[in-house]
Amino acid sequence: MRSLLAVLVAVPSVALAQLPDPAKAQVTSSPVAGNVHMLMGAGGNIGVSVGPDGLLIVDDQFEVLAPKINKALDKLSKAKISYVLNTHWHFDHTGGNGVFGREGRIVAHREVRTRLLVGADMGAFGVIPPAKKEALPVITYDTGMSLYFNGEEIRLTHLPAGHTDGDTLVHFTGSNVVHMGDHFFVDSFPFIDLKSGGSVEGYLRNIEQVLKTLPAGAKIIPGHGPLAGREELERFVATIRESVTLVRAKREAGKTLAQVKAEGMPEKFKPWGAGFINQDMWLETVFTSLEQSAAAAKARAVDTK
Ligand SMILES: [Zn+2]
Repeated sequence: MRSLLAVLVAVPSVALAQLPDPAKAQVTSSPVAGNVHMLMGAGGNIGVSVGPDGLLIVDDQFEVLAPKINKALDKLSKAKISYVLNTHWHFDHTGGNGVFGREGRIVAHREVRTRLLVGADMGAFGVIPPAKKEALPVITYDTGMSLYFNGEEIRLTHLPAGHTDGDTLVHFTGSNVVHMGDHFFVDSFPFIDLKSGGSVEGYLRNIEQVLKTLPAGAKIIPGHGPLAGREELERFVATIRESVTLVRAKREAGKTLAQVKAEGMPEKFKPWGAGFINQDMWLETVFTSLEQSAAAAKARAVDTK
């Protein structure tokens, strides 16, 4: 999916028809720790809790992959899905809601429901139509909530104005596993959805906070990329922080987006642009987001005069 989305971002939407079909992806399953397993197919990684209470899944990729996801779940347990958690509203994380939401209750941050209800024009990603009723979360929360399932507390924490405005950090406290959704792309520049209330500075604050509070030895399921841990997250946080510092300095020196892109990032970041989001896209996201927050700060200053 990362390479598929890279194509989506890099080319005009005319080429969308030539994209690889997510239906052709294979779904693989691997144990993470404790109750938790991870499924990879196309789109965001799926976290699974398996145990005496049945199944709980975190994100559900694409509807077209639902039969393969079900097959992989069947191998873990014959029990039914009790809950479906959505880390955020994007179509590569909630695409299966219409299927899995008929079996389990969908739980998400309030903004996920709000955004799924209306859909969105996502530019190069296409137009996302309003979700059908069975694909909508039926339990929502504002700042945090917990589910007690399969013998452990599963803690949901809102990560505000980062990747979108409705992202959730899922912490399986007993299994010592966190699912970070799209607040973590392993060793590649992230997609940050500025049109869905996301911001680069908020994203950085959120991942710094996750790193600061990450329990020792915790395994991390990223939104995209392989299973990871503290070391990979440290690397990711450092890259985002350095990107923001770099672009901010250039903006403040009066450089334009075109100049920032032409100058690029230091050589060591080259591999980070090979996947989902290339370096130009990333620099544009950082630049635009800083520009938006500068404009908002200015408006606030005028307001209080
Ligand atoms: Zn996303």
